[in-house]
Amino acid sequence: MSRFIAASTARGARQVIDKADNMLKGALDSLGPDAPVEFKDRSGGPTAYYLPVIYGYLGHKVEKVGDLQYPLDRAKSLLAPEPDENMWLPYLGETLDAGVGTLWAEEIIKGIEFAQGKQPEAKGDFQFNGPIDDGQLRSWGIAMVDGSMPGFAVVIGEAPSNQAAVRIVRELQARGQLVFLSGNVNGRSVVDQLLEEGVDLGYPTYTVSFGSDTESTVYATGYATRAAFSFGNVTPGDWRRVLLYNKFRCFAFALVLGPMDDVKWATGAGAIDYGFPAIANTMVPHILPTGVTRYEDVISEPWDDIPGDTNEKAKRLIDKCIEVRGIKVTIPQPELPVTYGPAFEGEVIRRRDMQVEFGSKSGPGVELLEMKDTDAVEDGKCEVVGPDIDEIDFGNNPNTYFACKIDVAGRAMRDEFEPVLERQLHNLSNEVEGYQHQGQREITWIRVSKKAYEAGLRLKHMGDVFHTTFHNQFGSIVDKIQTTFYTNQEDVEKIMEYARDKYRERDERIGGLKDESVDTFYSCTLCQSFAPTHVCVINPERPGLCGAYTWLDCRAAYEINPRGPNQPVEKGKCLDEAKGEFEGVNQFVYDNSQRTVERMTLYSLMDAPMTTCGCCECNMVLIPEANGIMIVSREDFGETPCGMKFTTLMGQIGGGQQSPGMMGHGKRFVLSEKFISAEGGLRRVVWMSKPLKEELKDDLQQRCEAIGEPDLMDKIADGDICTTVEDLVPFLEEKGHPALSMESMI
Ligand code: SF4
Ligand code: ZN
Repeated sequence: MSRFIAASTARGARQVIDKADNMLKGALDSLGPDAPVEFKDRSGGPTAYYLPVIYGYLGHKVEKVGDLQYPLDRAKSLLAPEPDENMWLPYLGETLDAGVGTLWAEEIIKGIEFAQGKQPEAKGDFQFNGPIDDGQLRSWGIAMVDGSMPGFAVVIGEAPSNQAAVRIVRELQARGQLVFLSGNVNGRSVVDQLLEEGVDLGYPTYTVSFGSDTESTVYATGYATRAAFSFGNVTPGDWRRVLLYNKFRCFAFALVLGPMDDVKWATGAGAIDYGFPAIANTMVPHILPTGVTRYEDVISEPWDDIPGDTNEKAKRLIDKCIEVRGIKVTIPQPELPVTYGPAFEGEVIRRRDMQVEFGSKSGPGVELLEMKDTDAVEDGKCEVVGPDIDEIDFGNNPNTYFACKIDVAGRAMRDEFEPVLERQLHNLSNEVEGYQHQGQREITWIRVSKKAYEAGLRLKHMGDVFHTTFHNQFGSIVDKIQTTFYTNQEDVEKIMEYARDKYRERDERIGGLKDESVDTFYSCTLCQSFAPTHVCVINPERPGLCGAYTWLDCRAAYEINPRGPNQPVEKGKCLDEAKGEFEGVNQFVYDNSQRTVERMTLYSLMDAPMTTCGCCECNMVLIPEANGIMIVSREDFGETPCGMKFTTLMGQIGGGQQSPGMMGHGKRFVLSEKFISAEGGLRRVVWMSKPLKEELKDDLQQRCEAIGEPDLMDKIADGDICTTVEDLVPFLEEKGHPALSMESMI
C-alpha cells in the first residue's frame, strides 16, 4: 500500500485525536466531569446506544464528560509513529487502527459539542440534521435488511459544480441509496450546493445532512453500528461482529468529492474498517482488494477523465461506486423524463403545483388489474384511450375521467394474486417524481405536477414503469403485462361498473371465514412510506383500511414475496376476547411501529384501536351526544356531525396515529360481525355518508335483520338528513335509535 496514504492517515488521526484531547481538557475544566454527554436527534430527543461507535468497539457507555477519557486514551494507544517515507507497507493494519482511533476521537469531539449545545450544527438559516433518529433508523434499517433499499452513500466535500452536485445526488436516489452529506472543501460543501439549487434535504427525500465538517461523517459509522445492534443482534463491544455485519449486510460507501486531506484519509480509513470503500473523484492512489472491504478499498475516478457532459459524468461516477461496493441494484430504471425511485414515494403534490388531477373532486378514478390468457396480452404495450395529460385543458375544465386497466398473463399467475399486484400500483406510481397516487380501486386519485409535466411526463410513461417493475419484482408470476389508460367518460364509466363487480367478487371470496378459525392474521405495512408508524392487522373478518386487501390477499402476497410488507402475525394468547386483543398482535405492532404503538385491539374503537394511514376508505368518529358513532366515506365531500369533513379528519389522524374514538376503516368492515363488536357493533351507527349508505344498502339491510334490528337503516341519519349534532340528536330521539339507550360509550 502506498506509504503516502499511510502517512496521511497517521497525520490525520493524530490531528483529530489531538483536537479531541484539547477539547476534552477544556470540557473537564468548564463543564466538569459530570456534565451529561448524549447524541440527540433534531427534536432534541436522545438517540439509543450512547456514542455508538465507541460503544460498538469498546462496549463502553459514554454518559458524561468524564466517561470520554477512557476512549480517548484508547485512541491514543492506536497511534503508530508516522511511517518512514521510504518504507513500503505490505499491509494495512496500522492505517486501519489509526482509522479506528480517528472515529473514536470524532465521536468524542461531537459528544463534547453536544454537551456544549453546539450540535446538531446550524449554518445561517440552515439546520443540519446531525445523528439519525431512532425511529428513522428503524424504518430505514428494515428496508436495508429486507433488500428494498440497497444501502447508503456518504458524500463528503464539494462537487465540481452545483449541477454536478444535484445530478450526483439524483443518481444515488434513483438507485435507492440513502444519501448522507458531510464535510467541505475550503468551507463550501455539497449541502451548500444542493440548497442553492433548491433541492429539498431531509428524511422524506433520503438525504441527510450530518454537518459541515469531516468529523460529522462519524454519524454514518454510528448509524451503521446502531443498525448492527438493532438488526444484527450484535452485542456492544463485539467489534468484530459489528464490522462483519456491516461488511456483508450494509451496502455503504463513501464518495469523496474534491481534494483529499489528512483528516479525510483518516476518517476514510475508519470507514474501510466497516467494509465501506471510498471512491474519490480526484486523482488519488488506489488501494486494491485486501479483503477488508469486499472489493477495492479506495478507487480514484477523476472527474475530468470521465467522458460526457455533467449528467453523464455523474451517472458514470455513481455506476462505478455501485460496482465497487458490489451492490446488486434491483431498483429498475425505466427511461423516463423525470427521476424514479423510492425517494419520491412520500412526495406530496399541492393543488397549486399540479398540472392535472384525476379522481377525487375532479371526477371518477378507477384502477383494475386482471389476469388474462397469454394471447390476450401484448407485453409492454401501453395505450392511452382519450386525451393524454398534454391534451387536457384542466384549468378551464377541471372535470376528468380516469381508468387504469392492467392486464397480466403468466404461467404461475393465479386470480388471487390480482388484488396484490393491483395494490402495487400505489407504490410504483408514487416512485415517479411528480406523480402522486392515493386511494385505490374505485377511489383512485392521481395528481401530476406541473414540473413533471413540463419535463415531459405523460400517462404513457406510467405503462413503461409498470412494465419494467412488474417484470423485475414479480417476474416469477408475471410474464406479460400491458397497460391501458382511459380518460374519456364513456369508457371510464363502463370500466367503473365492471370493476365494482370484480371488487365485490374478491371481497366475497373470503366468504364465511371467521377470525376464530385461523391462528394467524396478516400485517400490512405498505403504507409506512407515508405513515411510518402505521400497521394494518388484517383478519378474516376485517379488511385493511384501504379496503384493497383482505386476509386472503395478504396470504397470497406473502406467498409471492415472503419478505414483503405482508407478514403472518401469530395471534398468540388472547388477552381480551371481546376487544380482540392478542399478545402476538401487540408484539408485532409494537415491533413494527417504530415502537410507538404498544397495544392494538381489533374489535374496539375506544380502547387501543388500529392506527390510521391516509388511504382509508372511511373514518368512524365517536359522537358523545348520540352515544354512538358516525361514518364518513372518502367520496363524501360534505360536512359531518363531528364538525369535520373527511379531509380534515384525515389531516388529524391519517399519519399513522392511534386515536381512541376515531379510526379509519374499509367500507365493508361495516358489514362484519366484528365491526366494533366491543362497543355494540352496527347498533352504534347513528350517521353515515349518503353514498356509502347507498352503496352497501342491500348488505346492510341483511346485517340489520341478522342482529334483530330490521328497521335500523331508517334510524341512521345521513348527509341529506343532517350535518350537525344539534339536528342529529332530535332525529335519533324521534326514530328511537337503539344507541340512545345503550351503555355509555365513554
Ligand atoms: Fe396495506 Fe393497510 Fe396501506 Fe391498505 S391501508 S395498503 S392494507 S397498510
Ligand atoms: Zn395507507
